[in-house]
Amino acid sequence: MLTAIVGVNWGDEGKGRMVDLLSQSYDIVCRYQGGNNAGHTVVNERGKFILNLLPSGILRSETVNVMGQGMVIDLEHLFHEIERLREAGIAISPQNLKISSRATICLPYHKLLDCLEEDRLAGKKFGSTRRGIAPVYADKYYKKTLRMGDLLTPDTLAEKMEGFVQWKNLTVEKGYGHAPIDAQEMVQWLRRYGLPLQDYICDTTAYLNREIDNGKSILFEAQLGALRDIDFGIYPYTSSSSVIAAYATIGTGIPNRTLDETIGIIKAYSSCVGEGPFTCELFGEEASRLREAGGEYGAATGRPRRVGGFDVVASRYGVMVQGATSLALTKLDVLGSYEKIPVCVAYELDGRRVEDFPVGDALERAMPIYEYLPGFCCDISGCRTREELPQAVLDYVAFIECAVHCPVRYLSVGPGREQYVQL
Ligand code: GDP
Repeated sequence: MLTAIVGVNWGDEGKGRMVDLLSQSYDIVCRYQGGNNAGHTVVNERGKFILNLLPSGILRSETVNVMGQGMVIDLEHLFHEIERLREAGIAISPQNLKISSRATICLPYHKLLDCLEEDRLAGKKFGSTRRGIAPVYADKYYKKTLRMGDLLTPDTLAEKMEGFVQWKNLTVEKGYGHAPIDAQEMVQWLRRYGLPLQDYICDTTAYLNREIDNGKSILFEAQLGALRDIDFGIYPYTSSSSVIAAYATIGTGIPNRTLDETIGIIKAYSSCVGEGPFTCELFGEEASRLREAGGEYGAATGRPRRVGGFDVVASRYGVMVQGATSLALTKLDVLGSYEKIPVCVAYELDGRRVEDFPVGDALERAMPIYEYLPGFCCDISGCRTREELPQAVLDYVAFIECAVHCPVRYLSVGPGREQYVQL
């Protein structure tokens, strides 16, 4: 069984928590794109964990975790993330963590370039997390950067780095007027944070194909949501990688396999970190109420998130491009105090009502059309079965299913592992 768990919206839908819940039925959990620019938050009996690079299955001792070739890996960040988990008593070894030799290394100068460019853009910035993600993906396609497999031949690192740094300094020194990058420093960094990972690096194409043939089941975990996909998202306010489910098998090294199932994680309202068009955005009192109720602050950056009501137009589009076969609706408990739930049912574009998600400048001009659905006015965080849910909750769920053309299979009613209802 090959299943992808992906975000339908702008990210922060609660994917980490759903992967943590569902990973118990899978043998292997894989991350297939992105770096430490976003975070999953998982709350279980061992505590609260923020995972930026490691797959969420790392919290279960019997699950094997794979960091796929579509990822960009900041070695220093990974080193500390592993250390923090070990301190919390989580065992991490080459038996339960495998890193693709084809994954790209995110170097300190990628972070530096990210910062230099965001500072240059000043008021017109894209809202980068400054973790080097766009520069490292750009270098991947320039074919001028290191991959994890390079750490297996440490004697070649100095020569490779020398070539990359010479090229990079044309931009850093001559372009931005910053002090040049020192190749030796980069090599020391690679040795300090990369060499301890040597035993974890492997050919995930061979590994995963073998395990699938052995009947193992795999869960593919995405970071961010459909609207942040480099191709299908709100470009240029997107991430720099392919976050959609169609990339899951490519990003882990098994393009020869096909997904059996795609579970879309969809939030009961909307939230968005950073810049870019966010048509359903609420402001003022209404926004503060929702932000506080939902604890909408970025897991990786602590930045307050922009919030809005459930966006039918964006969510239907997200479900479509993800090819979701079922949905997990999260954070429904957050709406518990609402008498009337705001829902963005369509957009107004140049005086016309539109139902299809607009692209480019048209999206910037779109205005939300809001309607209000009956609230449920009660705390549903203790509900565990369909029968315990008030009718108004079931009506809200039925509205969403109908609006986005996909069945809701899981309802998440709180951050805890057991706080969900299977419909
Ligand atoms: P991800 O990037 O999609 O994994 O999302 P985040 O982890 O950044 O954000 C999800 C946040 O919401 C975390 O703090 C979770 O613990 C929390 N969360 C997830 N599902 C629920 C839910 O159903 N109800 C509530 N109240 N919180 C939830």
